[in-house]
Amino acid sequence: MTSFTYDAVRAGHTLEPVRSGGVAGATAPAGNRDAWALLEAWGGLALQVGEAGNIFQATSASADLLAFPREYLLHASIKDIIAFDERERAAQLLQACFRDGLPKQAEIRFANAITGTRWIDLRICRHANADGRASLLLFGTDVTKWAQKLHQLTEQSLTDPLTGVGNRGLIRNRVEAYFTGDAAQRGRFAIALMDLDGFKKVNDSLGHEVGDILLKELAQRLAATVRSRDTVARLGGDEFVILLDDVTSDDAAVGVLEQIMRVCRQPFHLAGCQVRVTTSIGLAFASGVRESESQLLRRADRAMYEAKAQGNNRYCLYSSELDHRLNEQFRIEQDLFEAVLNGELFLHYQPIFRVGPDTVCAVEALMRWEHPDGAISPEVFVPLAESNGLINHLGAWAVRCACAQLAAWDANGVELGYVSVNVSPVQFRHPGFVDSVRSAIRDTGINPHRLVLEITEGALMTDPKAAGNLLAELGALGIRFAVDDFGTGYSSLSYLRRFPLSALKIDRSFVADMVDSPHARTIVSAVLSLARELGLVAIAEGVETEAQCDLLATQRCELAQGWRFARAMGPNDFEDAVRAGRFRIGSGDALSA
Ligand code: C2E
Ligand code: CA
Ligand code: CA
Repeated sequence: MTSFTYDAVRAGHTLEPVRSGGVAGATAPAGNRDAWALLEAWGGLALQVGEAGNIFQATSASADLLAFPREYLLHASIKDIIAFDERERAAQLLQACFRDGLPKQAEIRFANAITGTRWIDLRICRHANADGRASLLLFGTDVTKWAQKLHQLTEQSLTDPLTGVGNRGLIRNRVEAYFTGDAAQRGRFAIALMDLDGFKKVNDSLGHEVGDILLKELAQRLAATVRSRDTVARLGGDEFVILLDDVTSDDAAVGVLEQIMRVCRQPFHLAGCQVRVTTSIGLAFASGVRESESQLLRRADRAMYEAKAQGNNRYCLYSSELDHRLNEQFRIEQDLFEAVLNGELFLHYQPIFRVGPDTVCAVEALMRWEHPDGAISPEVFVPLAESNGLINHLGAWAVRCACAQLAAWDANGVELGYVSVNVSPVQFRHPGFVDSVRSAIRDTGINPHRLVLEITEGALMTDPKAAGNLLAELGALGIRFAVDDFGTGYSSLSYLRRFPLSALKIDRSFVADMVDSPHARTIVSAVLSLARELGLVAIAEGVETEAQCDLLATQRCELAQGWRFARAMGPNDFEDAVRAGRFRIGSGDALSA
């Protein structure tokens, strides 16, 4: 087999070298000379190369094209006139042509003594010399201008026009290049997807032009932050991707993410004001098997979604557990729509007791979902229903159902003081909320005073003015309010005076700790005196033990609920327990402090 090596030229295997001027070698026959004259007139690159890579024929036009003296070409090896990084590729091509005799064509970057390089569209043919040995004929046209234009267009097509960093196409190329490269040479690589938290607010309040300036500056900061082997690209909007190449460990990747978060947090000076933003980032490592950029981005996106769900301004690493959990959430969310239609949702009621006489004064309605695969906790499905708005529907149904139950118990001679219904902050902000409550009261005919809505501190404090109006509107109907999970949300106490509230429910975390922790005991005692000062009733939640109950009694806590007294139960079970004398119903209004 013919073996073509550039270095063979040094070993002196040259054939018929032409060392004088003219278009053809001194020893070339007349027909040959005509052919070379024709090539000279044509003006492109025309070379004849021996098996060892030695150039032994070259037109003056070739010499002009590469800006080398022709004499030099005739003493050179082909490798000497090819751009360094193209030598391997060119050698393989020439070798293949020697071997199989089939013409080859390729664009190769040649060296040029003046401009550095020239792109040549090269055609290579095998030729049988008169002495029976083989040589190669190389013909080429200069396509430098065209190649440069192409290069420029390719660059443009991979650049984000707004920020000048890469675009999705660039990420796609990098990912493809990574997987086509030598597997053994590859370090791990990871893709980080980031999104600014609340970028819309910047656009909305300062205008899109200012938003664009922020994105440009951010792109520069990112490019300056990452290592030179990493790639920054913008996908669109405020979404950026950073491809981290050759990541040595999870910690190394996390280090880069932390740095990115730090540079994002630095203030931006825009339109005369200082703007601060934070970012949420999802990171996914390439798994090792070949993947497209969209598969990788999908995983990074899932992690970013999780970072946002956890409250923004953080990063999250993709894992198969996360994937599983998100799929599960999605399935539950889908099933929840069906559950409403299939009547799988119902209410349980947990009695609220007067501490001391241990009589039942009210019940709290708690939603239950009997999924065909087993019960699903409201701690799981309520947040999902909040995220897709279904809670408005479910919440309105809960109010109506609880009011109807109170009326039904009344009719059966089980007369409770009131029913308490949980209201999600999402429901609280929904414009149809007041109407849904009003119609529930009207249709069931219960006294509005006997409906208590449990609201969290967060729901009240997000927009205190709107909350105040809403409470006033519902309060005018006679409905009363309790602050749920008190002590876990905002600590601004001044609003307690401003809102028309009736009760504070001491969060069960404080009750759980109060026996062992003096700190928790102090909080419970403080909430109890605060409630007394403000004329509110305090209700201790989650009372599980006799010891908690005794402590609450000594601190003069009047109302409590929890497993020490009773768990939440179905309406028939509750009625049966009352009839069996296991619960005694107290008289009077427990919320009139
Ligand atoms: P929440 O309003 O704080 O309800 C009290 C939770 O504590 C209930 O959990 C109840 O079963 C549980 N609990 C009662 N006594 C004890 C006890 O002694 N020890 C312990 N460890 N837990 C006790 P559940 O029913 O799982 O409800 C969880 C949360 O889901 C509720 O917390 C509420 O935030 C939400 N939720 C339930 N039903 C509804 C609803 O109809 N609408 C809305 N918006 N949220 C609801
Ligand atoms: Ca509650
Ligand atoms: Ca609670």
